[in-house]
Amino acid sequence: MSTQSEIGDGALSEVAPRVWAWTQGDGSWWINNAGLVAGDDGDILIDTCATEVRTRRLLEQVNAVRPESPIRFAVNTHLHGDHTHGNSLLPSTTSIVGHSQMRAGLAEDTIIDACPPFWSPPPDWGNVTKRLPSVTYEDRLVLHSGSTEVHVVHPGYAAHTTGDSVAFVPTAGVLFTGDLLFHDVTPLVFMGSLDGALRCLDWMAEFDASVIVPGHGEVLERQELQTVLESHRNYYRLIQSAAESGIASGLSPLEAAKRTELGDFATLPDAERVVLNLHRAYAEISDWKFDLFAAFEDAVQYNQALLATSV
Ligand SMILES: [Zn+2]
Repeated sequence: MSTQSEIGDGALSEVAPRVWAWTQGDGSWWINNAGLVAGDDGDILIDTCATEVRTRRLLEQVNAVRPESPIRFAVNTHLHGDHTHGNSLLPSTTSIVGHSQMRAGLAEDTIIDACPPFWSPPPDWGNVTKRLPSVTYEDRLVLHSGSTEVHVVHPGYAAHTTGDSVAFVPTAGVLFTGDLLFHDVTPLVFMGSLDGALRCLDWMAEFDASVIVPGHGEVLERQELQTVLESHRNYYRLIQSAAESGIASGLSPLEAAKRTELGDFATLPDAERVVLNLHRAYAEISDWKFDLFAAFEDAVQYNQALLATSV
């Protein structure tokens, strides 16, 4: 058994033969999941972490289970720093793989150089620098290492972001969803599409996976998937209807958020994301101009405090 602090610091567990999930803490802001797939001709890493310390812990654990095997490929499921800041700690011989929109988005992202003052305590990324994917794709891509395959697939539309990928290991029946799925953590769609996030729930269910590794929160068995998908569906519909009635009443996204009864979702980590998600929903169904920094300022105001992180 792992102790609580070991779990908080991250744990690498084998979820199927030669496939591992890296899970950390409660999955709140900047605390992500990642993964490892063993191959006979080098291994395939799924995502890195937000900070140097967390990524080094991940890579130590990877080295402990696969001491002789190099990381040949690393898939970035999307551009966000919790999944990409550690890229620069990977060997130069590792090819980083991501969707073309993911690479373009990361190229423009400035958070690794100067984190905006929205979180408390302020995240310390450590000694990491921006490293972009060297391999991009549009629809789908298959990575091969010996007889191991990892299918990297884009939903075909914006969802969590515009450049999301899932990584599917067909022989092991494991699906890494990136942040298309949050398990008992508030979903986030502000840089993607509420409509697409709803649509991709059915799409993810079509993969023949017995184990599902979400971007945040605990690993799921197949029999838990429908419940978790339904919870996402309910949450997205709640945001949609809050946006529709807010727009009809002439409310700002912040005002609409304050009037939204979150019910069971109120107790999930990062509940203030309702504000960020409403900013996106407004932009999708009205002429509201989406502004990332204004959305975060509203989220801080709603939260009546900076956003909590333990990164
Ligand atoms: Zn994430």
